Amino acid sequence: MISSLLQQYASLLEDVDAHFTKAIREIPKIPCKKSCCDCCKQLFPLSMIEAYYINEGFKNLPRKERRELEREAKKQQERIEKEINPKQYKTLNADLNEIAEKRNNFTKALQSTKIHCPLLDKKGLCQLYEHRNHDCRIHGGSFDESSNEIVGCFRHKDLFSNPESKQKFKTHAIPSGHRYKEKNKLDSLLITHLANNEALTKTIYITTPYIAFLKDFAEVDWKNFFYEKIPAASQTQNNNTFSLIIDTTH
Ligand code: SF4
Ligand code: SF4
Repeated sequence: MISSLLQQYASLLEDVDAHFTKAIREIPKIPCKKSCCDCCKQLFPLSMIEAYYINEGFKNLPRKERRELEREAKKQQERIEKEINPKQYKTLNADLNEIAEKRNNFTKALQSTKIHCPLLDKKGLCQLYEHRNHDCRIHGGSFDESSNEIVGCFRHKDLFSNPESKQKFKTHAIPSGHRYKEKNKLDSLLITHLANNEALTKTIYITTPYIAFLKDFAEVDWKNFFYEKIPAASQTQNNNTFSLIIDTTH
């Protein structure tokens, strides 16, 4: 089951990459290159399936790199706990708007720490480029139809500021919510499978990349893991409410 979910997630990422490659072909002015890493100088939150997928890649890194990532993870995790108190964003039995607001606030708080993504190496390259998450892939080529704005990279807003170039960007860019619904569905399936509890189908789990370096996901007792973080009441939530678990202590 888990390998099937990871495979479905990998296919979804391939589709996002294909869209982005096409966008770059149509809009050569987009400056994204493997060596451009300004967007990696911040910390992104990860969902459950994204963290699992990064953990899969992490396990195949050379031992020395794994140890370095573990050391850094322990250090930065303590810092985050002190600086932004992540527990304040945890929300049980709320509607989607409240969940979205808390999630955005947590993302902003993470970015306010100015901590670089731990996978950014000293040469400015992503150490797990093939395993990077969904947001990393659309960040440079994303357009939000509802606000009619370029989202993601700050550079693109300047580069495509006149109406004609903005329209070209819009025509070929990736819609900002591209494949999000499917990704969320995979997250939900993974959580309910790991916890072996269908009542967690509306649980949203958000964490930092550090979890992927501090746990062997195949060995974790996930049922206990989720039950410890979700009080019994939330396991019988009705179908209209969601729970957001923000987790940075692994
Ligand atoms: S999104 Fe922006 S900062 Fe990131 S690679 Fe593209 S141009 Fe560079
Ligand atoms: S996972 Fe890779 S691409 Fe994404 S922010 Fe980190 S270093 Fe950059």
